[in-house]
Amino acid sequence: MAKILKDGEVNELKLNVDIYNIISNYVSLKKSGSRYIGLCPFHKEKTPSFTVDTKTQLYHCFGCGAGGDVISFIMNIENLSFIDAVEFLAKKVGYNLKFLESNKEIEEDSRKKLFELNELAKKYFNYILFNSKNGIKALNYLKGRKISEDTLKIFEVGYSIDSWDNFTNFAKKRNYDESTIVSVGLGIEKQATTQVRKVYDRFRGRIMFPIKDLIGRTIGFGGRILPSNVNNINNINKINNNFSSISENNNNKKNNAAEIKKPQVKVPISLQKIKTTNIGENIAKYINTPETKLYSKSKNIYGLFEAKSYIVKEDYVLIVEGYMDLIALYDNGIKNVVASLGTALTSDHVKLISRFTKNIVLVFDGDEAGINASIKGIDRLREYNENLDLFHENNIRIKVCTLDKNFDPADFIIAKGKEAFLEKVNNSIDIIDYTLNLILSKYNLNDITDKLRASDELLKFISTLSSSIIQEECIKKIAPKLKLKESMLIEELLRIQIKRKDNKDNSGLYQNENKFSDDYSKFLSKNINPQKKLEIEALSLVINGADYPEFGILNLPLEYFKFNDTSKLFYLLKEKIFNQINLNKNINFPIIISSDDFVDEDVRKLYNYIYFSDKNYSNYKESCREIILNFKKLALSEKIEKIKIFISDAEQKLKEKKEKILSSNEDKEKLNNDINYLENQIDNYYKELINLEKEKFQLENF
Ligand SMILES: [Zn+2]
Repeated sequence: MAKILKDGEVNELKLNVDIYNIISNYVSLKKSGSRYIGLCPFHKEKTPSFTVDTKTQLYHCFGCGAGGDVISFIMNIENLSFIDAVEFLAKKVGYNLKFLESNKEIEEDSRKKLFELNELAKKYFNYILFNSKNGIKALNYLKGRKISEDTLKIFEVGYSIDSWDNFTNFAKKRNYDESTIVSVGLGIEKQATTQVRKVYDRFRGRIMFPIKDLIGRTIGFGGRILPSNVNNINNINKINNNFSSISENNNNKKNNAAEIKKPQVKVPISLQKIKTTNIGENIAKYINTPETKLYSKSKNIYGLFEAKSYIVKEDYVLIVEGYMDLIALYDNGIKNVVASLGTALTSDHVKLISRFTKNIVLVFDGDEAGINASIKGIDRLREYNENLDLFHENNIRIKVCTLDKNFDPADFIIAKGKEAFLEKVNNSIDIIDYTLNLILSKYNLNDITDKLRASDELLKFISTLSSSIIQEECIKKIAPKLKLKESMLIEELLRIQIKRKDNKDNSGLYQNENKFSDDYSKFLSKNINPQKKLEIEALSLVINGADYPEFGILNLPLEYFKFNDTSKLFYLLKEKIFNQINLNKNINFPIIISSDDFVDEDVRKLYNYIYFSDKNYSNYKESCREIILNFKKLALSEKIEKIKIFISDAEQKLKEKKEKILSSNEDKEKLNNDINYLENQIDNYYKELINLEKEKFQLENF
């Protein structure tokens, strides 16, 4: 179908095209300094902000943020796909494009192969669970958790044998090579002691949950460790003989397994029989397929294929955290449910889900909420709260459903049944109300210091909500609870918002960055988030060569870049520059990134914004030094803020214990121990806090 260009053809074509000649067919351009300007063809304007730069062969509009190279210009103005735009340009300048007919087929073939291998693995794991001796334990465990066989079959649950290479060897016998096994995520490549590369099974001794795409193809797996998994691996070799016609070379297999093990450590006799998974690594309760050509955790969500028709029917979706929760709910007749697999809801997830419903209910375990709101609970909420604007824009409603203390969704539905669960769902509350209540519940509102802390935290949260109507609603709700005047809270809220704009508040808490907004003009305003401003400044210095050759900025940790677009651009620049160095090539500044390097439209916009902005550095080296210092200060402030939260949390607990010791007849000795422990902990936090403050002071006065 689609044709594939030979390597380098796009660059070859670009050498034959001048961006000025092409664009001037559409826009009347005037020379301005070293560039050309004109009225933007992509948005209405009276004064020209559309700029063309012949040196880099890029264009950029300061008004609407449109920009890119000559190909993206043609794509946008003629509404063409990439390949069609390339052909269009080639025709225009009389360039003869060379195509590779078979390339696409090769690519499609390799994807097909990956799907096939996943399909094979799914069937293999499923077979083991239901038909082999090795699967009995797992099957008994699942039945012990009251999951019916029917449901297990609908989700095609399976079991992976507790062995280093059982699946890998099986797949190899079926003519899948090691690189395919690794690239689909079922195998892991490891350097063995013999200097030979070895591939071993990623999933060992786990209940296997196939993750499917919207049309039901298996794109990856989730694996849950079997709690009672303390068998040995002696009888695993028999399995393959029973699964269709495959037979294994047992001796060979054992040797492989032995070689892959980490250098032997003295293990007490009593532990020696414990399964291989224990050797040399921490066992995670859940593991998933890593990012592959087929699977991405930020794009795919577990259970949607099975649930989609029920989601449409009920017009809402429940989101739980784990596959066991999902399967238990499904088994008990609640089928409009998906699992996020431990990641926050991304914009891609929301896009995917919103094709079926606009109503989302997050189901929280009882211990994630409740009176003693944990930091973890707040953290999980923050991830959603940060995207509230996105959800709001798309008319998506998010509610939170909390279960009773110490119950996860699976326990709950099994113990109390469908009706009780649906009642909880009916009582779920809007995520904003929920967050407000959660914050309030952390504090003792009769205590004046606590009350101030509570209002501070609440207002910080409210200040991140972009709609002033919602902000006002929130204030109305919290004022009576805090016994404070609404007008006073509003005043305080304004103060926080102004302070934030003034570049003072960089706690990292509740930073609101609408990652999905197309409105790029905010980039041009001065109200851009101070953290982001700093990151953009840093990227600008890198792009313009100020950071060269010290690479002080380029060597900062990636975590310092907190936004989706800035961190991606930082990564891209790093890769580009270090690649050149590795190839012993000269680096030319400013770093030119063409449209084919970008996978992400937001990153391209950010780059263009930086590239086309004026640079006024009086001293390059000094600017770099300052930026690096600011990054470090911000990182320290963030740490300090976190410690402060830990302290207030521990102090709250301490207070409760002390009250208990006076009033209740609980075990006094245990309470005293707890108090000692907490006091110690608080002491240590304070020590750390002092150290951090010292460090910050030194940085500031350096
Ligand atoms: Zn424009």
